[in-house]
Order: sequence, then C-alpha cells, then structure tokens
Amino acid sequence: MFGFTRIKKPTNLPLLGRHYHLSWWIFPKKTAAITLGSVVLHRDRYPTTDLMAHEEVHVMSNHGRTKISPEKNMIQWYASYLWETIRKGYRDNKYEKEARRLEK
Ligand SMILES: [Zn+2]
Repeated sequence: MFGFTRIKKPTNLPLLGRHYHLSWWIFPKKTAAITLGSVVLHRDRYPTTDLMAHEEVHVMSNHGRTKISPEKNMIQWYASYLWETIRKGYRDNKYEKEARRLEK
C-alpha cells in the first residue's frame, strides 16, 4: 500500500515546511518522520503537534535559520547530521538536541 497525503497545519504552529503522511512499507520502523529540506514525511497520518514542531526545527536548521547550522546547503547539512549521529548517536546528535530544545 502506498499513500501520500498532505497534513494540515495545526493553527497554533507556524510552519515553514510542508508536512505529508507517507504510508509505505519502506518507511524505517523506528522513524516517526523524515525531513528533506522543506518537506517532512510522517509515518503517522495525524502526528502530534510536538512532533511537527520538532521536525520544523530540522527544516529551519536545513535552511540555516537556527544557530548551529548557518548557511549550510542540504547536502552539507545531511553529511554533518550523519557524522554527528555516527559519533554521538541519535539522541546526543547536536541537531536532535537543538530540535528538542526549540520544539516547545
Ligand atoms: Zn529530530
């Protein structure tokens, strides 16, 4: 089964990115959402506002709008994200720490 649906913006959350629900068997099991530039793909059809806010921080980071990632292009951002994850793991990755700090 393949499904691709636009997710409505919560009224209390100004969004820079476009959020979609992607229902597809290939979606990684432990992953709730994937941010690709301005596009956020969600596993859940109705993600929580907290999760959408968290992914929005990654969107802003992708666009150089947060402190730790000024003017990086998307490829540099993902290379840096991956390197952080390899060195420190998912939770201690600086981009994840930043997203958790700013999502609320
Ligand atoms: Zn994250």
